[in-house]
Amino acid sequence: GPVLEFRDVWFGYDPARPVLRGVGFTIPARGQTALVGPSGAGKSTIFALAERFYEPDHGAILLHGRESRFTSYARHRTAIGLVEQDCPLLAGTLRDNLLYGAAPVTDGEIRRVLAMTGLHRMIEALPAGLDTPVGDHGRRLSGGQRQRVAIARCLLARPDLILLDEPTAHLDPDSEHALTATLNEVAAVCALVVIAHRFSTVRAADRILVVDEGRIRADGTHDTLLRTD
Ligand code: ADP
Ligand code: ADP
Repeated sequence: GPVLEFRDVWFGYDPARPVLRGVGFTIPARGQTALVGPSGAGKSTIFALAERFYEPDHGAILLHGRESRFTSYARHRTAIGLVEQDCPLLAGTLRDNLLYGAAPVTDGEIRRVLAMTGLHRMIEALPAGLDTPVGDHGRRLSGGQRQRVAIARCLLARPDLILLDEPTAHLDPDSEHALTATLNEVAAVCALVVIAHRFSTVRAADRILVVDEGRIRADGTHDTLLRTD
């Protein structure tokens, strides 16, 4: 069944002024869903509710078919990983950044995740490898590298769903291309929901949810929604 479902979700930061006005969708266990829509439409708010930073005023959010209010926060937060937009990292090493907060992981699992995120070649090229310091907020790494470290860290916690807030926002075309390849690999092992602005990100998604004024205006594939002919 679906990993996440929003069922007629209403929510307002001020309950008198709803920002989400009856949002409903389901996210299958695999594949990549893009959330698109104008600024202020409610995309980030959908993420905030999926992460349970807020609870709906009306309606329900279901994780694996169970209403989230009957699921512990710990279970919920383990199931859902978050990759923030600018991917701030710890001031420590690559290893610190990959392993903090992770359940015990094997070397094999680390290698698999590094390969999936395209970090293995970079790390092999670094004299100190995983013990290379990344500096404050990871500033010795490029935006694309930070993004991939954040995704690798997320994967090591074995989530069922990863939310990515505009992952390609500040990337050059080459980095964006590499990230798209990474996301396609990751979407084969868990569900991804991506807030997307760039057309290329939307095109890479299996499915598109168009968000407008706190509602889902359309739900379909690139072909069904964005035909320009
Ligand atoms: P999007 O991600 O699609 O740009 P948001 O979910 O960020 O949209 O915002 C939806 C609406 O909620 C906007 O009107 C925004 O101003 C408002 N909003 C977002 N976050 C907060 C907040 N923390 N407190 C109050 N209002 C907020
Ligand atoms: P971006 O951050 O712009 O996306 P990438 O991480 O895609 O850059 O790096 C492009 C290529 O350069 C990759 O093949 C990667 O292995 C290599 N690379 C990047 N940074 C380093 C580094 N510090 N040392 C060695 N190789 C690196």
